[in-house]
Amino acid sequence: MTGATPIEFDPSCMDEYDPNSLPVEIAILSINTAVKPIAGFERVALRSALGRILATDVASHIDVPTHTNSAMDGYALASADIDTEEIVTLKVVGTSWAGRPYLEPVNSGECVRIMTGAVLPEGTDSVAIQEKVERVNDVVRVTGREVASGDNVRDAGEDIQSGAVAVARGCRIGPAQLGLLASLGVAEVDVVRRLRVAFFSTGDELRSVGETLDVGTIYDSNRYTLYGMLTELGAHVIDMGVVRDTREDVEAAFATAAACADAVITSGGVSVGDADFVKETLEKAGEVNFWKIAMKPGRPLAFGSVGNAVFFGLPGNPVSVMVTYYQFVQAALKRMMGETTEAPPRLRARTADTLKKRSGRMEFQRGILRRTAEGELQVSTTGAQGSGILTSMHEANCFVILAPESEGAAPGEWVDVEPFNGVVG
Ligand code: AMP
Ligand code: MG
Repeated sequence: MTGATPIEFDPSCMDEYDPNSLPVEIAILSINTAVKPIAGFERVALRSALGRILATDVASHIDVPTHTNSAMDGYALASADIDTEEIVTLKVVGTSWAGRPYLEPVNSGECVRIMTGAVLPEGTDSVAIQEKVERVNDVVRVTGREVASGDNVRDAGEDIQSGAVAVARGCRIGPAQLGLLASLGVAEVDVVRRLRVAFFSTGDELRSVGETLDVGTIYDSNRYTLYGMLTELGAHVIDMGVVRDTREDVEAAFATAAACADAVITSGGVSVGDADFVKETLEKAGEVNFWKIAMKPGRPLAFGSVGNAVFFGLPGNPVSVMVTYYQFVQAALKRMMGETTEAPPRLRARTADTLKKRSGRMEFQRGILRRTAEGELQVSTTGAQGSGILTSMHEANCFVILAPESEGAAPGEWVDVEPFNGVVG
């Protein structure tokens, strides 16, 4: 033993470390346990259900497929008739078309010409595909080598059995679900009513698109990213515009928002030392926690309730808004909408670039994920990672997620990535 090596405390490495800040995972857990699904649903025509959340289980009243049918064009026969290596001759007694079945029983020594999707006639159990038989006038010649019992046959109910739940409540209806429900003959479904989400931006420096910029002012982009993210989620969005940094305006905005929405989202004005009235108003009008989260971008976050509405106070910086929305707000809103969800998939990719980071906070850097010619996942950085650089979100197709203790990554190292495909929408 050479003795314990003393662990040196290097303050420069700990600059980012703040013992009072909340880990990302704890914030997610606190939010998800606090929000509850909304009540209320509406019945809509099947096509109008696209993008909505199913409110009740849909069980099938029929078997899908309804009949045992052929998966190929060929000849329906009884496999017992050709249980031999020898060539067997079968008499073709009729044709079963898709939608026009052959209704007579088929006897031993007989077969039926059959098309894809046509009902398998009584007395047959398999289909010899047409390329594997030799047809001469009204007989076919086939050997047992070519077809076994059940070959090229789709059983009644093999997709869905009558009585089984085909699509469960909580499912988001996409193209596959529309088709599946249509295959059951379902014309209308119950979907969760649209979640009403009100949002506004705070800040005297903000101007809306269409206004002119004077010295020190900037265009409000957060209301546009929020509009996009919430619309893609399927929420009923209530855009309340820019609210000036005065006590009266902020109070009035919160009162209006809480009265008309299930959830209220604001951006800006939640950092320490902000010259505005968001915090003051919330302390009076709601029950709100102001958190310092150990993440970058997006350190400040407020969460709680205002009146009957759930409240999310996001940071002001445009990238922080998107990152905190996707990491905290989206899953909570989905839960309110009654959607059954799983955490978006995270993959491992090799970084092509040096990723700079100091230990202390979890970082959500913006990356471009691709597959190399060798078939490996590789991620490169979008460049500067400032929380105001919205072009980084525009160029990226994934978040590169670096753990709080990470001190960055060198080219060739493996890092966690969260593709936007699984996160967004
Ligand atoms: P705040 O959290 O209010 O201190 O804002 C942090 C930064 O984000 C400041 O540079 C703000 O000007 C900017 N910001 C705040 N709200 C918006 C917005 N709606 N659109 C674009 N930038 C914003
Ligand atoms: Mg501000």
